[in-house]
Amino acid sequence: MFDLIIRNANLPDGQQGFDVGLKGGKIVAIEKALAATAGEEIDATGRLLTPPFCDPHFHMDATLSLGLPRMNVSGTLLEGIALWGELRPMLTRQALVERALRYCDLAVSQGLLAIRSHVDTSDPRLVTAEALLEVKEKVAPYIDLQLVAFPQDGYFRAPEGVASLNRALDMGVDIVGGIPHFERTMEDGARSVEALCRIAADRGLPVDMHCDETDDPMSRHIETLAAETIRFGLQGRVAGSHLTSMHSMDNYYVSKLIPLMAEAKISVIPNPLINIMLQGRHDTYPKRRGMTRVRELMAAGLNVSFGHDCVMDPWYSMGSGDMLEVAHMAIHVTQMGGIEDKRKIFDAITVNAAKTMGLEGYGLAVGCRADLVLLQAADVSEALRLKPNRLCVIKAGKVIARTAPRIGELFLDGRPASIDIGLDYIPQTPAS
Ligand SMILES: [Zn+2]
Repeated sequence: MFDLIIRNANLPDGQQGFDVGLKGGKIVAIEKALAATAGEEIDATGRLLTPPFCDPHFHMDATLSLGLPRMNVSGTLLEGIALWGELRPMLTRQALVERALRYCDLAVSQGLLAIRSHVDTSDPRLVTAEALLEVKEKVAPYIDLQLVAFPQDGYFRAPEGVASLNRALDMGVDIVGGIPHFERTMEDGARSVEALCRIAADRGLPVDMHCDETDDPMSRHIETLAAETIRFGLQGRVAGSHLTSMHSMDNYYVSKLIPLMAEAKISVIPNPLINIMLQGRHDTYPKRRGMTRVRELMAAGLNVSFGHDCVMDPWYSMGSGDMLEVAHMAIHVTQMGGIEDKRKIFDAITVNAAKTMGLEGYGLAVGCRADLVLLQAADVSEALRLKPNRLCVIKAGKVIARTAPRIGELFLDGRPASIDIGLDYIPQTPAS
């Protein structure tokens, strides 16, 4: 007797028609025609069942603040940072908690059940950290929320940057952040990387830095981050977020840099929606994409996962908590449109992101946590193409969100009465 069985599901690896049995919060069976009963059964009707989406890079203290106190007119990263600086003194714990919880509601409905959020520690009041620690506890039954102490205005550059970041870690924030390219000089940036890696080593914490989020090919803090990772023995615990300057770097230099990053086991977190929106702003034409070298980094064996970064905040007025929207942009910006490419892109918002976050028991295998999402699409390629509805979101073996399938009703003579976007347009030959 199982708690829940999902019948006739397709799996992310392409296998079709499997029944998945859940019991006691775990996946306990994955087989065809599972001969068992359950308290509840869901007929997947040949649709894709996947482990939940994971977002390894987000800003939950800023999300849903769009328009407060005004809009970002130029749409640039630097006006976004300035605008956030105007809003920050007005933030209250209660408003932060409410906005974050509303975002988590949206995330759950989108099958997004693990989020790593940066928390700005620049304001010494640390109301951001207080609020998000409260949210982390509140959402723990349904979202794995990790928090990064993030010195938005610079670790050395902000008046109380050093003390505030350390206090946030004392309060229980999980991960050491940084922003070396925003310090006053390249030297200060490199010093901040060294100081922050030392803190991580001393406290036994992971590192996740905003690193080289610029079009400047001479912004090479990722080299320092890789070297300090090795020096402090932090291999496998360090993530470099954005790394957009790698787009503009000299190829010869990159041929030395990528093996160094691989040696340090750096997790790479590009943010396709934000990078394509904010980079290349000083270019006329040709205009750079400002996306790091995803294909080459993956080929070198680095763990690459994509972040959403922003939803309706001072930097980005769009976004919907949908990691498939992030992946959809990634396919276009990286020009990774082949079948194998798409599998890798899907991995980047599921298994790779879970690895970046160090999630235990994540996956679709017997013994893994009973956390699953049923999509209105037949397979991974179709999910990426359609960004379909999340029919069921399951956490610890229980359905925690449902969305009805998107069915279009037609009123046309001689044509079908309705179409199911998820099942009626599956390609006859595998999509490429
Ligand atoms: Zn960010």
